[in-house]
Amino acid sequence: MPKKPIRVDMLARRKHLAAEICLSHSLRIQERFLTMAVYRDAGTLALYSPILNEVFTEEIFHRARREGKKLVFPRVHGEDLVFVEVRSRRELVPGAFGVLEPEGQDLVAASELDVLLVPGVAFDLCGHRLGYGKGFYDRALGRQGRPSQVIGLCYELQLVQRLPAEEHDVCLDLLVTEERCYAFGPAVSALDSCQH
Ligand code: ADP
Ligand code: MG
Repeated sequence: MPKKPIRVDMLARRKHLAAEICLSHSLRIQERFLTMAVYRDAGTLALYSPILNEVFTEEIFHRARREGKKLVFPRVHGEDLVFVEVRSRRELVPGAFGVLEPEGQDLVAASELDVLLVPGVAFDLCGHRLGYGKGFYDRALGRQGRPSQVIGLCYELQLVQRLPAEEHDVCLDLLVTEERCYAFGPAVSALDSCQH
């Protein structure tokens, strides 16, 4: 199946998730991520500002800030994303597509990130990710290089058997859902640190 109908179907399914389910699943997903060695060992993490029932990231933000980690958020810059350091959530302001974006100027290249957390519309169990169709993360990582770990956050509802993957699509190292975490490629050993 081509990407577009999968996007349309999955966006409709996620839209109908009740707010309290999004919240409780998001808490479980974030708690699971926060128990993992990839989080513990990370000095610099990129988060995202959720829209349209994407998995929330506030818990990770607050814990990581308390623990002195460096946090960055993406900002749309033409066809690219730049990753900008954020010290307080007040530094996030409405930007492209209604997403809260950082207003600062302390840029970090994607290749310098220990962990990049990505939202997505759909994911499969081979580590493929489907976005909204603009390819921002694919292009940013293509230009700036790959972070040490690219980790998707999603609800089990967003998993599909097989996504059509193209050459430019970024592959995930890990995917964290409310039920478990999935590891792909060389990250499989990281499963040891997941809570099931
Ligand atoms: P999404 O990842 O948002 O689901 P796609 O993977 O379908 O979207 O990518 C959308 C478009 O972005 C592609 O058709 C391609 O033209 C462009 N694109 C993605 N990655 C790159 C890249 N590394 N270099 C140039 N163009 C890219
Ligand atoms: Mg893509």
